[in-house]
Amino acid sequence: MPMSAKQSLDTLTLVQRYWRAMIHPGAFCIDATAGRGHDTETLCRLVGREGKVLAFDIQPEAVQATRERLAKARLSAWVIEASHTEMADYAAPESVDAIVFNLGYLPRADHRIATRAETTLPAIDSGLALLKPGGMMTLCVYHGGDSGFDERDAVLAHVAALDAKRFTVLVSSFSNRPNYPPIAVLIIKEPRV
Ligand code: SAM
Repeated sequence: MPMSAKQSLDTLTLVQRYWRAMIHPGAFCIDATAGRGHDTETLCRLVGREGKVLAFDIQPEAVQATRERLAKARLSAWVIEASHTEMADYAAPESVDAIVFNLGYLPRADHRIATRAETTLPAIDSGLALLKPGGMMTLCVYHGGDSGFDERDAVLAHVAALDAKRFTVLVSSFSNRPNYPPIAVLIIKEPRV
């Protein structure tokens, strides 16, 4: 899709372009960080009635906000109050088309309740095992300010070390913008040869 002259590209728009290119009606997707449900809603629209979406968040406020958003939009997903480290309890290996992470804290809530490298890295690995060959994972990595840099550094090092025969990893950052714009990570699980 060509860029509109009126709209500048941002990180979420970029990852959403990946979703739109690769998520088809009937797909099975996981939103690993439901938050207020914006991404869950987008995934539900992309997979349509035949598809399935699971969404995880550790905060009751986020789970409730996501359920309310979906109900208002007449969409449905399984919204689970649990850590994304538990996603393998809810999906079979190599059964998922796309998994999305939007790291950081819930806007307008306690910024101390945020994703952390100690749980994000195991959740990434768990999610990669759940992806179908050809499936996709995206991460929006927030950094600076209340998010700090520890999780960013750990995530970028982790994905850079993934086996290149099994995964393609693309990292996009807005090099000339101020104030630490989030970083977009796309991981594609290679189809079997
Ligand atoms: N995708 C969301 C949206 O569309 O509104 C925004 C997500 S927000 C930036 C990050 C969310 O991750 C917060 O709601 C936070 O509670 C959640 N979170 C933090 N640690 C988590 C964990 N271990 N498992 C699942 N969610 C977690």
